[in-house]
Amino acid sequence: MRAALLEEPRPVAERPLRLGEIPDPVAAPGELVLRVAACGVCRTDLQLAEGDLTAHRLPIVPGHQAVGRVESVGEGVTGWAAGDRAGVAWLGGTCGTCGFCRSGRENLCPGARFTGWDRDGGYADRIAVDAGFALRLPPGFADLAAAPLLCGGVIGYRSLRVSGIQPGGRLGLYGFGASALCAVQVARHWGCEVFVCTRSQAEQQRALDLGAAWAGGYDDLPPARLDAAITFAPVGDVVLAALRALERGGTVAINAIHLDRVPEFSYDLLWWERSLRSVANFTRGDAQEFLALAAAIPVRTATEVFPLEQANTALARLAAGEIHGAAVLEM
Ligand SMILES: [Zn+2]
Ligand SMILES: [Zn+2]
Repeated sequence: MRAALLEEPRPVAERPLRLGEIPDPVAAPGELVLRVAACGVCRTDLQLAEGDLTAHRLPIVPGHQAVGRVESVGEGVTGWAAGDRAGVAWLGGTCGTCGFCRSGRENLCPGARFTGWDRDGGYADRIAVDAGFALRLPPGFADLAAAPLLCGGVIGYRSLRVSGIQPGGRLGLYGFGASALCAVQVARHWGCEVFVCTRSQAEQQRALDLGAAWAGGYDDLPPARLDAAITFAPVGDVVLAALRALERGGTVAINAIHLDRVPEFSYDLLWWERSLRSVANFTRGDAQEFLALAAAIPVRTATEVFPLEQANTALARLAAGEIHGAAVLEM
């Protein structure tokens, strides 16, 4: 089958992915093999390709927002049949027995395995997935529209939960990529007042179009104190900008697997029970909850579609901030 392989991380300008042929995956016991229709391109894929996120193994097929149809079913799998549509996301497996797994916090499992990092991902014609971690997708979304929901959407939703935002509250979003695009729609559905800070004027306009009350740059202070904020940019200065805008008792949720640094800051910014929290992965519960909500709202995603052969181009455009909405590879 065709696959875009990362053999050696390097700058995106040097086209780190190599398109090649690799053997088809085989469904081991407990697994499904899907024929991939579409796979979203995430900033995490870019960080892995460039080496900002250390590879767990090489070569690896990146991609953790795959939508496809079941082609073969491994021994012992129940509930899935050939032809069923399924989604594959970042959380590819957990130990199932540790304290985190047994207390509804499988996102923190030390034995967790991740799609496109520990296991081959969706930048390929086929993908093998642990059947317990394959996600059922609501029928309202076409394959290309469903793919970006599987990372940006789900993690955006978990970030909303971690931020503690309540219906009707004042929420700040710092950065306005694929994940924030989903989060703003959920927050508006909850009746929140949303304030968006992002460098790009086009993104500021898009935020206003999606119902944001206000949009400005990272250095602009929103016109009201925020009950909660989520930062999406992998930049510590942005975390401090969010903290500066926060109301007493509020939380900044950092939606980033990799941050350049956390700058030193005055304790006054944190005083009055303000909190800083990171957002790590998601649980299968988050994913199913978000997908049902996304279908009910419904959450709309803008996508820019690339053929698999142009995976390097998609990464380069993402790096340059040129993607409007979400980049998706179509197989
Ligand atoms: Zn565990
Ligand atoms: Zn992702």
